[in-house]
Amino acid sequence: MVEADSRINAIQGLIDELHQRYLSLEDGAPANYIPELAKADPRDFGIVIATVDGRLYQAGDAGKSFTIQSISKPFVYGLALKLLGPECMVAKVGVEPSGEAFNAISLDPTTGRPRNPMINAGAIATTAQIACRDPENAEATVLDFFAQLVGRRLGIDDAVFRSERATGHRNRSIGHLLRNFAIIETDPELSLDLYFRQCSIQVTCRDLAIMAATLACQGRNPFTGARPLSPDITRRVLALMASCGTYDFAGQWLHDVGMPAKSGVGGGILAVVPGRLGIAIYSPPLDSLGNSVRGIAVCNELSGRLGLSLFNQYPQSSSTVRRSYTAARRQSRRWRSPPDREALRASGQRIRVVHVQGILDFAALERLVAELAASLAEARVLVLDLAHVIELPAESAELLAQQLTLFQGRGLEILLSRSAHLDLEGVRLALGQEPETLFCPDLDQSIERAENLFLALWNGDPSGGASAHENAFSQGFLSQLNPTYRQRVAACLERRDFAAGETVIRRGDPGDELFLVHHGRFTATIQLQDGYGRPLESRLATFGPGMCFGEIAFLSGQRRTASVASDLEGGCLVLSRPDFDQLRRSDPEAMNELLLALICDVGQKLSLTSHQLTQMEHL
Ligand code: GLN
Repeated sequence: MVEADSRINAIQGLIDELHQRYLSLEDGAPANYIPELAKADPRDFGIVIATVDGRLYQAGDAGKSFTIQSISKPFVYGLALKLLGPECMVAKVGVEPSGEAFNAISLDPTTGRPRNPMINAGAIATTAQIACRDPENAEATVLDFFAQLVGRRLGIDDAVFRSERATGHRNRSIGHLLRNFAIIETDPELSLDLYFRQCSIQVTCRDLAIMAATLACQGRNPFTGARPLSPDITRRVLALMASCGTYDFAGQWLHDVGMPAKSGVGGGILAVVPGRLGIAIYSPPLDSLGNSVRGIAVCNELSGRLGLSLFNQYPQSSSTVRRSYTAARRQSRRWRSPPDREALRASGQRIRVVHVQGILDFAALERLVAELAASLAEARVLVLDLAHVIELPAESAELLAQQLTLFQGRGLEILLSRSAHLDLEGVRLALGQEPETLFCPDLDQSIERAENLFLALWNGDPSGGASAHENAFSQGFLSQLNPTYRQRVAACLERRDFAAGETVIRRGDPGDELFLVHHGRFTATIQLQDGYGRPLESRLATFGPGMCFGEIAFLSGQRRTASVASDLEGGCLVLSRPDFDQLRRSDPEAMNELLLALICDVGQKLSLTSHQLTQMEHL
């Protein structure tokens, strides 16, 4: 858990300031209709904010225990929805605000159904469903559930429980009335006992803030990662907290504070800013409606000062598209023959690479679709890089599938890069593609595949544009040599063949040979570290026919820094150090010519590499 320090954190400073200021607000009194609650110390006062990123800001009595009381209601209702399903619960308890006090005996005159699960009648009916379902284990089930919500096991305050059981005649009468209407179908005393026990669960202000943050996080505890509630149930619970959570004060509350909230006569109150944070306040003195006086005041001020009302949310402005560029600006690490390089440079706008980021909810997806539609006019291939997409909600996945299908129908080839963390099976099925042709775990390889697709279209060559223009002698390195010297250099080269996957150069070995690709494809890789310090093998370059590799270590006399392997079955023309030395002695003019060609080759590579490197900064 991350805790803030007010000396260096202004948000912590604000919480401390509110705590300090509202300490002197001394209106109200602790509940006394449950005798044990009247013993609470009116000076107790804690404020905690918990964010969906798992950060805590706390002031005052953040760790002092008190009984949860009615704040248990929305959570136990969530548990009932989870165990029994919405259809079953709707038959027992309504979802309409009652406009009455928390302990009103407010049942539908014909069905006997309580108006909502936030008033006592609805909460007792809700608890009864859990109690009747499995009387033996009901309490353990409730406590296990609260342990997940909070991230620690909670106890029950036995004194408060007995105090309420002994004096809770009004709740008892509600329970029997519910039995009369068959909303409770067994002995109501069992359900009432469980209800009184659930109200006597001991929590701290910090626990309540974490519970509120769990609701803010669609039912996932952001501190532990546990998911006690589904997003759908959380949505239902929050809606009821908004409309009924503060009883007959709910309208004013929503108008002023604008957050789903729930209070308890133990002095706790929690409020939720969905998707953002949870707030909890503990202060036992209550107003005439049974809400914590300081709790209401602090929530009001926090909402106003921090702009937290649900009805005052900023339009989402962060960009969904992190970067967008064409292949004219960024190429794969596969070195291309000069004609292919030229084709990619001249028509690179036919390949568009779009990096998407964030949570792709509807608003983000709508923005993505608009930006794609605007940028794809000339494109034939789209690489959608999803590495920085945090979440793709199911509803959005469906829309994305439909959108990509529309693009595909208009002749666009689609590749999805770095998307293994997302469920895109629906998208794949909609596009009717095999996983190997749609998904690619590596961005560089996705771009290479996009280039291949484009070059195949460009060259009218379905093989992937590999060799139409490539020939070791007519286009490649050797063609740079004057024909008279070319033969003399070629005579020193020894042909060597490799199987697919065979190692050609090993990192750390001496650089005693220079390679010229005759046929096939050869990939140089270096070892890097990923963000977690784990070794990561990354491609440096892939060479095709006519290109030379291994020259850096060969010329500098240093050891190999990269490994090279043969991607396919392939062959190279190899110049060994002894033959190179021999040529230097016997044919200085040819050697001169060879060195010039090598300098030229290295210069070209350097120029392309540094150009790309610089370009990358501006993508
Ligand atoms: N246990 C209390 C009761 O039923 C809970 C009421 C409340 O917190 N509003 O009276």
